[in-house]
Amino acid sequence: MRPEALLHPTPAGLFCPIGRFYVDPVRPVERALITHGHSDHARSGHGHVLATRQTLDIMRIRYGEDFCNSEQAAEFGEKIDVNGVRVSFHPAGHVLGSAQIAIERDGLRIVVSGDYKRGVDPTCAPFVPVACDIFITEATFGLPVFHHPDPKEEVGKLFTSIEQFPERSHLVGAYALGKAQRVIRLIRDCGYDKPIFIHGALAKLCDYYVSQGIDLGEIRPATVEKSNPEAFKGAVIVGPPSAFQERWARRFNEPMICFASGWMMVRQRAKQGGVELPLVISDHCDWPELLDTINEIKPAEVWVTHGREEALVRWCELQGIPARPLHLVGYEDEGD
Ligand SMILES: [Zn+2]
Repeated sequence: MRPEALLHPTPAGLFCPIGRFYVDPVRPVERALITHGHSDHARSGHGHVLATRQTLDIMRIRYGEDFCNSEQAAEFGEKIDVNGVRVSFHPAGHVLGSAQIAIERDGLRIVVSGDYKRGVDPTCAPFVPVACDIFITEATFGLPVFHHPDPKEEVGKLFTSIEQFPERSHLVGAYALGKAQRVIRLIRDCGYDKPIFIHGALAKLCDYYVSQGIDLGEIRPATVEKSNPEAFKGAVIVGPPSAFQERWARRFNEPMICFASGWMMVRQRAKQGGVELPLVISDHCDWPELLDTINEIKPAEVWVTHGREEALVRWCELQGIPARPLHLVGYEDEGD
């Protein structure tokens, strides 16, 4: 079978014509398989959704009870028949519940990795390499310039700043799903045991992570109105980046604006966003991790979904691995 007969790109996303399903469709479809809960991959309004239990829970938290008509939870490794196509979900190491999806028929196996990373992250199951004929990879940080540092060293920069500026409230921007909880967990693992304050937009997802056994230590709401702003002197406050443009952020004591993102590698991005303390913490592979993963899996062919496709396609070709960009649109890396 030609791989394209099993899976090919369409304007709505990757489509399996035999199984009559889409993977991470960007518009409402009858049957969707979802890799993870970031809003660019998991959208509401599909007929039937097949995803991990945690991704389904996260979609319900974000979109409400009626986020789809019907749902089915996939266990990691479980083989599920969808209209004659065998599919299975495998950990992607990106955020809680995130999965790669293996799609098989007549001896051909395609793995859609969704978003993934290889670095240590105690807030989700680690990436598992799955042997396959076609490996479909993202390339968010698919340029040789991207090397993500040790995230604990980045948290060390935050601690140094708190020591240097004990009067200032340290506002850490982090995306609501995955990054916020990972940053809080990292801060704990680096020995910080004071309460950490969070913006209201993070509350439900933090509660969900805790319910799934991820210990975040003492979390308190960062509600200025009800308490003395003095209470936030030297405190660590985590909020979604969008909240930093609001009046909310200006209520704190000389806020030190920090932002945890892989994009903080790019000095210009930090500057434009008014970020004083950039923390390079990413939930995506950097360039060496992308190459290591492809070397480890040794697929017959690589397809690249989104990000900086050209450099990775070129590198694959130089290794003798046929590769092509899929030019999928609609994936804006909510959780970089
Ligand atoms: Zn993502």
